[in-house]
Amino acid sequence: MSTAAGTPIPIAVNAPPPTPDEHSAVFWAGLADRRIVVQVCETCAKRRFPRMPTCPYCGAVGGVDVEADGTGTVYSFVRPQRALTPAYAELAPYAIATVELDGGGRMFGRVIPADACAIGLRVTPDFADHPGPGDAAWTELVFRAAPDQP
Ligand SMILES: [Zn+2]
Repeated sequence: MSTAAGTPIPIAVNAPPPTPDEHSAVFWAGLADRRIVVQVCETCAKRRFPRMPTCPYCGAVGGVDVEADGTGTVYSFVRPQRALTPAYAELAPYAIATVELDGGGRMFGRVIPADACAIGLRVTPDFADHPGPGDAAWTELVFRAAPDQP
C-alpha cells in the first residue's frame, strides 16, 4: 500500500498484473518510478494515451514520451457496485474514471474515495504498489480526490 498522501490505498491483492507490450512498457515502467508517461505528437503537439505509433489527431507517425504531473479533472466514470471480475470483489464499490489531464490527454484510473467520484472532480495522482511475486510486482496509478475542489 502507498501512504504518499496520508491515507493508505486499498488494493485488489489478486488483481492480475499488466502485460506490457512494445507500446505500454514505457508507461508501466514509469509508474514503478512514480512517473506518469504520456506521448506528445511532434506535429500537432497534442498529448495522447495510450501510446500508439501514429497520432490519432493528425496522422503523423511517431511521438515523444513526456512526463505528466497527473493532476486533472474527472471526465467520465463508472462505479460498479459489484466487481466486474472476482479479483476486485474486495474493493467494490469502486470508481474507475477517465481523467482529463491538465495539459491535455486523457487517462484511466481508479478514484479514491469511490463515493467522492463525480464528473468535474479535481484529482491528484498517487501510486499503489502491488507486491506480486518476483517480476509480477507492478504499480497502479490511482487518482485521489484533490483536497481543494472548485
Ligand atoms: Zn498529431
